[in-house]
Amino acid sequence: MAVDLVEDDFRLRVHDSQAVLSSDVADGPITPWADNTVAARAGAVTFSATNAASSTVGGKRFGRDVGVAYSRRVLSDAASFCWNTFNQPSPADRKPVDAVTLVVEDIGGVAFTSANGVHLSAQYVGNYSGDVKTEATGVLYHEVTHVWQWDGQGQANGGLIEGVADYVRLKAGYAPGHWVKPGQGDRWDQGYDITARFLDYCDSLKPGFVALLNAKMKDGYSDDFFAQILGKNVQRLWQDYKAKYGG
Ligand SMILES: [Zn+2]
Repeated sequence: MAVDLVEDDFRLRVHDSQAVLSSDVADGPITPWADNTVAARAGAVTFSATNAASSTVGGKRFGRDVGVAYSRRVLSDAASFCWNTFNQPSPADRKPVDAVTLVVEDIGGVAFTSANGVHLSAQYVGNYSGDVKTEATGVLYHEVTHVWQWDGQGQANGGLIEGVADYVRLKAGYAPGHWVKPGQGDRWDQGYDITARFLDYCDSLKPGFVALLNAKMKDGYSDDFFAQILGKNVQRLWQDYKAKYGG
């Protein structure tokens, strides 16, 4: 399989919430913050994107309609968006991640994230009907959230993990048209769009709720976190949410 590595000589670096293009090589000094080099290095994150499926139909479409340069920018923008959503202004607040990578691969499914590496399916890109650039952007916001969100030391409900990722996608403005409407679904922890809509309701009760919930999920997980933040247990909140929308 032909591998089309990123050849650009620049890397995207992020310091706090400010993304800049730097011509430095990956391990060189970070000149924009020369008066604060240690902190800049501590807070710097490198983003990279590679199209490893450029010989496939989907990989060709990715290169034409999305592109590695654009998607690398999305990795950076989505990281900043996560830090804002999670109220993590300082690098010390965030998960300690030095690099986020995207590889477009000739795989099935949509995408997955493992060890700070996002893997996007070229087949999905190739088969998608509609605005594939917007869809890929939304998928990347979801996957990048998995890099930065806390998972309760592995104890958190999987539906909640996916719900937080889609919540970030929703707040970024990339909810696709096929998602459930607010109030739909059978359980609060069904995951994805259903849980994202519910989290949006919870956040409307107390702005910053999702940030507080994520912060609690750094060290472990309990459904009681909902009650600790909002004063009602999660089942009661789900009932109130359903009632609000006539369910
Ligand atoms: Zn996910």
